[in-house]
Amino acid sequence: MVKERGKVYLVGAGPGDPGLITVKGRELLRKADVVVYDQLANERLLEFSTGEKIYVGKQAGRHSMPQAEINRLLARKALDGKTVVRLKGGDPFVFGRGGEEVLYLRTKNVDFEIVPGITSAVAVPAYAGIPVTHRGKASSVTFVTGHEDPTKERSDLDWDALASSGGTLVFLMGVKNLKTICTRLVGAGMKRSCPAAVIENGTTSAQRVVSGTLSTLPARAQAGGVKPPAVLVVGDVVSLRSEMRWYEILPLFGRRILVTRTRAQAGRLSILLGERGAEVIEIPTISIEPPHSWAELDAELARIEEYDWLILTSANGVDSLLDRMEKLGVAPSRLRSIRICTIGPATAERLAGAGIRVDAMPEKYVAEEVVRLFESMDVTDRRILLPRAAATRDVLPRRLREMGADVTEVVAYRTVRPRGVRPSLMRLLSKRTLDCVTFTSSSTCSNFVALVGKDNQKLLKAVKLFSIGPITTNTAHELGLRIAATASDYTIDGLVECMVDYYSK
Ligand code: SAH
Repeated sequence: MVKERGKVYLVGAGPGDPGLITVKGRELLRKADVVVYDQLANERLLEFSTGEKIYVGKQAGRHSMPQAEINRLLARKALDGKTVVRLKGGDPFVFGRGGEEVLYLRTKNVDFEIVPGITSAVAVPAYAGIPVTHRGKASSVTFVTGHEDPTKERSDLDWDALASSGGTLVFLMGVKNLKTICTRLVGAGMKRSCPAAVIENGTTSAQRVVSGTLSTLPARAQAGGVKPPAVLVVGDVVSLRSEMRWYEILPLFGRRILVTRTRAQAGRLSILLGERGAEVIEIPTISIEPPHSWAELDAELARIEEYDWLILTSANGVDSLLDRMEKLGVAPSRLRSIRICTIGPATAERLAGAGIRVDAMPEKYVAEEVVRLFESMDVTDRRILLPRAAATRDVLPRRLREMGADVTEVVAYRTVRPRGVRPSLMRLLSKRTLDCVTFTSSSTCSNFVALVGKDNQKLLKAVKLFSIGPITTNTAHELGLRIAATASDYTIDGLVECMVDYYSK
């Protein structure tokens, strides 16, 4: 059998913000058999890949894998027929040693492709509100390594040329030599008052900017304890930052927020938080599973026309119902004669997506409001079907029955605690770098508490907890948690708005 030829893709991961990887890079991560990565690539990008992941960067106390060894690893995996993604911070060809890897692969006849990335040299200044070129201020930009050993007899850099370029200078890897760099530039004729800024952990929630001039910056950076990775920008464009800064003034900038919804549902909340400058970490504390048996639901679906009302109190219930209908060949048109009530817009949207109209929706998205809605009509002897999660609160069916309705409850899904998430959750909490946790339902909250464990509640001391609505908040209180704020509109958008309000106070 002839072995398939593998290939190595050198992929730029972007500067930190996981949204700054290219579409092509993300697709390649999805199809890679092996991902070889190091420090700078945001580790969240690895979630796109189901392949083998090999870390070759620096680890506490240990050196990174030598370049020659990385080269051999890449070639070996590709010659084994694997699709290899070599994920590199920023752009692979900007101080990324991508060229060395390619030259080696050529000698081994290994196929390769380059997928450029957004380099930190441009993106990090941009997130600090500094355009690297600007009409009237800079018509060229130079990327420079600041890594050079300052005790070296003869510099490989032409300091006179750099100093007289008249354009913007961007130094990478220059934290350790910051003082030497600024001194050399002044020594080569640049003005001491030339604006300069150093940007640490750019494009992430840990971004920090220290600015000054060539003469003041080194002391300021030292006083501020600036650490790598950081980019040094020198030139008149730096002064534009006072008007152009945008990232650090987003309302949730700098907040590290945990999203506890299911993987499938986290997306929208995470995007909204990210758009407001937060760094989002997704660790689902619930997962949605089918009921132990479909028999009950199937039986009711078979005689669905006999019902007057169908009440759907969660998007999960809708998903489960629609899936089951499709499997059983129950056409959505069979719901035409029944009236449908949903608890909120997300539930209604799901149904609309399947071409099913909604007849009633309460103004506030809690069970009590559904009760109120039905109190305004006569439901005596009305047959109501209520597909729901196993083991849920029973106010709704109880109240409907008290009103004289004939209510049938069926289990449409189960909410369970996902396996294997506890280690990452505990690691996150014990690092004490988390600012907030979001709860979007009672079950995300109770499972969170169960996962963390009673004895570890002290880890939550400095963490602010936010809740989507009063029911969830109640659950939290019963479990002994303190909720910082509860959304007044019980939706995902409402939750985000409540967090923004909280932090803008
Ligand atoms: N290939 C990368 C650069 C690798 S060299 C790129 O194109 O971005 C590593 C240097 O990049 C760091 O020392 C630092 O100067 C810069 N850098 C990378 N990510 C950064 C970040 N998020 N914030 C500030 N500087 C960063």
